[in-house]
Amino acid sequence: MTALPLVFDAPRRGRPPTHFADLDPAARTAAVVELGLPAFRADQLGRQYYARHQNDPAVMTDLPASVRDTVAAALFPALVTPVRTQEADGGLTRKTLWRLHDGALVESVLMRYPAREAGTADRITVCISSQAGCGMACPFCATGQGGLTRNLSTAEIVEQVVAAARAAERGDIGGTPGRLSNVVFMGMGEPLANYPRVVAALHRLIDPAPAGLGLSRRSITVSTVGLVPAIGRLADEDLGVTLAVSLHAPDDELRDTLVPVNTRWKVGEVLAAADAYAARTGRRYSIEYAMIRDVNDQPERADLLGTLLAPRLAHVNLIPLNPTPGSPWDASPKRVEREFVRILEAHGVPVTVRDTRGSDIDGACGQLAALPQSVL
Ligand code: SAH
Repeated sequence: MTALPLVFDAPRRGRPPTHFADLDPAARTAAVVELGLPAFRADQLGRQYYARHQNDPAVMTDLPASVRDTVAAALFPALVTPVRTQEADGGLTRKTLWRLHDGALVESVLMRYPAREAGTADRITVCISSQAGCGMACPFCATGQGGLTRNLSTAEIVEQVVAAARAAERGDIGGTPGRLSNVVFMGMGEPLANYPRVVAALHRLIDPAPAGLGLSRRSITVSTVGLVPAIGRLADEDLGVTLAVSLHAPDDELRDTLVPVNTRWKVGEVLAAADAYAARTGRRYSIEYAMIRDVNDQPERADLLGTLLAPRLAHVNLIPLNPTPGSPWDASPKRVEREFVRILEAHGVPVTVRDTRGSDIDGACGQLAALPQSVL
């Protein structure tokens, strides 16, 4: 019997080549040994990559010149290539469009927040993508309108962060050299829908050099639409990273329309999963709430949200809705936003209003679409 050809299969995009940042410490040593190099070269490469943010073996002067090409080809393929950068907010916000090996496009946004007190360092945050596109289809989000292209590999995620750390050190953001301090998984994609790659990337971000970038756990935020089983798994990993939940409505009826995955996991289940996560870390989680004029910004909803959250270890981050192409919705008027804040505070719920960094370069929350038309 002859097998039938699978003519109906959709073409699969090729997997990105393996990169140093995909490998955990044991795999790194194995890869180095496989290249015929002594095992200690693994830590040496780790120091170059994770401590000095160098991803080009050609300039790793502590590596014998004769092996640099081999190491480059085997462990440091170019995974993310900058296509375009745009600046906003007087140079304090910088969006980069990256092309991946298969032509898929993603964006990341680097933001610098000058220190409020003398003697403290500026906060420098990078907002990274975990998927090319997104399958969650939230109607107010530009990324959600294009659907999911594919998951990013661990190294494609880590490379966005290493590039940001390098840019900060060079003074590309805000003019003077600085240190990357925060990473938020709030760019394109649903991080918990790309679970194993995102968790491996978190290890690379947290582990101290030479195994990783050594960022502080609490300065890393994973934002999710509320994939309940994955929130539970993430709690079990004991990574201690900050959790943010995109709630956007306190009631299931409205949330079903704003965050379609709510038809699977309801508001109560999502909050219970977040509570369990907070119980594990002992720290507050964030509730993200985009303020959409006349859709979810009524005083009754503020009251319901306040009632839901008052007993919980949660903090609300209101996001003035950023306009996206084709969406009929606007941000709530400031007066309505202030009333929403007042009601939440009356319930004793901590609230902050997110700034709209990068909105004039389509670099703010929900505006990342990586549209090739605007580039080519
Ligand atoms: N998929 C993850 C991360 C994505 S974006 C998640 O949904 O949490 C980070 C935040 O921006 C989410 O809270 C998302 O709902 C919000 N967002 C999306 N579109 C927006 C828009 N147009 N204006 C303001 N916030 C938006």
